[in-house]
Amino acid sequence: MRILELKKQVEDIFAQLEDHIDRLRSMGLFCKEGCFDCCMGKGVEATTLEFLPMAVFLFNSGELLSWEKKARKADPEAPCVILRPESDNPCSLYEKRGLVCRLFGFSFLIGKDGRPQLWACGYLKDRFRLVPKGVRENLFSPVVTHYSLRLIGVDPELGSKYYPINTAIHKALQMVGFFLSLKKAS
Ligand code: SF4
Ligand code: SF4
Repeated sequence: MRILELKKQVEDIFAQLEDHIDRLRSMGLFCKEGCFDCCMGKGVEATTLEFLPMAVFLFNSGELLSWEKKARKADPEAPCVILRPESDNPCSLYEKRGLVCRLFGFSFLIGKDGRPQLWACGYLKDRFRLVPKGVRENLFSPVVTHYSLRLIGVDPELGSKYYPINTAIHKALQMVGFFLSLKKAS
């Protein structure tokens, strides 16, 4: 399986999304300091594909097995296994987080009226209302469904099946562990 190629394509999508997010941040859209409430949410779903970069990173750093064990034991419906609420750095793998983690708060859903609506918590929605109307309305908006479709474009199977986030992370770790170990051994 072309794990490294898929990982690179997902990283390219993330890089473009981060550019859009930077534009929103430059308008003052920042998370509440120290907040990780959305990571605590139950029922967050994600694809295996979006966690391949994280899994490859953990394989290369020699931490994949320990994280695979944690993810395997985690309740699929529980908050994200990566989260360490007691730590100063609650998402210890923030740079490698998945698409859903990047989109929430900094992307848009298209409303029934055809207008983009920020997909975010109340705190960020309030901050967004402070952005001048003219700027808000002419914004180039990262749309959730566009990014979801781009994942499907990278791999129709791995990018389209949604699982509870802990299951998606576990599947990505298992897959990368299996294929990269085989590659290393050959
Ligand atoms: S998106 Fe909202 S809930 Fe999530 S970390 Fe940012 S401020 Fe907190
Ligand atoms: S990977 Fe990080 S940002 Fe995403 S839900 Fe888990 S703790 Fe939160």
